[in-house]
Amino acid sequence: MGQYQWPTSKIVCVGRNYAAHAKELNNPIPKEPLLFIKSTNTLVDLDGQISIPNNQGECQHELEIAILIGQPLKNSDYSESLVAIEGVGLALDLTLRELQSDLKSKGQPWEKAKSFDGACPVSGFISFDESINLSGIQFGLLKNGDYAQQGNSKEMLFDILGLIQQISTHFSLYPGDIILTGTPKGVASLNSGDKICLEFQQQPIARATIQYD
Ligand code: ZN
Repeated sequence: MGQYQWPTSKIVCVGRNYAAHAKELNNPIPKEPLLFIKSTNTLVDLDGQISIPNNQGECQHELEIAILIGQPLKNSDYSESLVAIEGVGLALDLTLRELQSDLKSKGQPWEKAKSFDGACPVSGFISFDESINLSGIQFGLLKNGDYAQQGNSKEMLFDILGLIQQISTHFSLYPGDIILTGTPKGVASLNSGDKICLEFQQQPIARATIQYD
């Protein structure tokens, strides 16, 4: 397991990739992946301490499988997408939910709610090889000792390789880019003092305490 070795140009995120999560936010099930980008000021190591904004309404955790890209990709096919995966880890797509709802209701972009400093804490990445079944990754988030979110990549509406193919038709991907593959149900607020633990295949992969900025 190691940190990424290239500068990241972008973090491409997928919205509503688990039916149960789309439902909990009263969103329709998408016919094609809903994509958005978090800027690189959001990237922080998911290790020790995480700072979240105070006084901007609820800051929610979205636990997601993160894919580290190791090769340039444009209009990639299945096998090109597979060999370009350098690592697999977990990330939090932190979201100021009240602000996002307000922006959505006005038809405005979401960046203020999803691209604030530190809005993308990322674990270390596990080197990707055939021993990792991309369609059977079990993952979870414990908050203060209890499971807040649990998911399995087999529940995705669009699978990981399909996502990479789709994404690379819209945006060229470069080594160091990170894909966040969507969150399962159970998104909820984080508060100062919360202790979180992220599990990948039932093993702890990252821990942190939440504090206000
Ligand atoms: Zn998300």
